Amino acid sequence: MTDTDQPATLAVRAGQQRSQFNEHSEALYLTSSFVFDSAAQAAARFTGGSEGYVYSRFTNPTVTMFQERLAALEGAESCLATASGMAAILMTAMSLLKAGEHVVCSNAVFGSTVTLFSGILGRFGVETTFVPATDVAAWRAALRPNTRLLFLETPSNPLIEVADIAALAAVAHEAGALLAVDNCFCTPALQRPLALGADLVIHSATKYLDGQGRVLGGAVCGAKVLVAQAMLPFLRTAGPSLSPFNAWVVLKGLETLELRMLAQSERALQLARWLESHPKVARVLYPGLASHPQHALAARQQRAGGAVVSFEVRGGREAAWKVVDATRLISITGNLGDVKSTITHPATTTHGRISPEARAAAGISEGLLRVAVGLEAVTDVQADLARGLD
Ligand SMILES: *Cc1c(COP(=O)(O)O)cnc(C)c1O
Repeated sequence: MTDTDQPATLAVRAGQQRSQFNEHSEALYLTSSFVFDSAAQAAARFTGGSEGYVYSRFTNPTVTMFQERLAALEGAESCLATASGMAAILMTAMSLLKAGEHVVCSNAVFGSTVTLFSGILGRFGVETTFVPATDVAAWRAALRPNTRLLFLETPSNPLIEVADIAALAAVAHEAGALLAVDNCFCTPALQRPLALGADLVIHSATKYLDGQGRVLGGAVCGAKVLVAQAMLPFLRTAGPSLSPFNAWVVLKGLETLELRMLAQSERALQLARWLESHPKVARVLYPGLASHPQHALAARQQRAGGAVVSFEVRGGREAAWKVVDATRLISITGNLGDVKSTITHPATTTHGRISPEARAAAGISEGLLRVAVGLEAVTDVQADLARGLD
């Protein structure tokens, strides 16, 4: 591969390793283990004295190709792939934190992330404070002498709030802590947190990296000391490793990532503008709209608004459910990151198990709907929503 820093080229070419057969497309190495030429070579590989593949819980050539390509796109020294996005967050926590340490986390993160930090890691003596993502002063006020990690998801779900990555990186570094950013909604095609000062980027490859709703996967990107050195021992030992098949799917997904993210963002912006003009819609939450509270920050920090649009319909739950139930094209599902558009009613699904008071405090009203815009003709998506709105 020629030397380049152009993402379009890196997405298609970075990380490829050809076998002796000179295959054009990346090969899928479905093998759990690797063989050695001699007892001496086996010994050297096992003790880490020589480079090379041993066992696919540790490393696998297809997984390596995915890791190198994603690292190139994020501008990271190092990347490790995991079985899911949650496994990537678990690996980060288990590798970098110990009992007695403290985490500050934005309060509108993925539901399982909340459960992992507050429930599971809490049992192991790691305490987490949740703060509003966009309130930099609240992050600073939450810091303690033992704070080791700041964990941010931006844009947030389902309110699509945009937090200032550079400002929060500065807060983290002043405190001697690390900033990890869950870059699931934007992907490196739209936002590169490491260039803005973040230390780690977390991915659910299940979403836009695959992009077609096929497999689960995850990854962590960052400096070699934090990722390859600090996390590989955990991955090798505990085994939340990405399967070679899933790695191959998401590796090929990266080739069309930029095209998809730009096309889906364009459709999302068109849909957001149409929704904003609809009399039955009380407000639209999309960073690409001038009415979005962090519109200017999003324009600096993101290349486009992303594919997720949330909006509030007049008439509460009844009106919102009517919109969901009138759809014939859009899939009714809590998932996102697909070329097929999806719709969900957060108050009764993703946020259905928290108390009405907590939901109201989080700004998730009964009339709120979230649409993750896919690649269908946007006029068809509009028509599908118009049926329930009109
Ligand atoms: C889906 C998701 C995750 C978890 O990823 P899995 O691959 O489902 O484990 C983490 N963060 C965000 C923002 C997500 O949307």
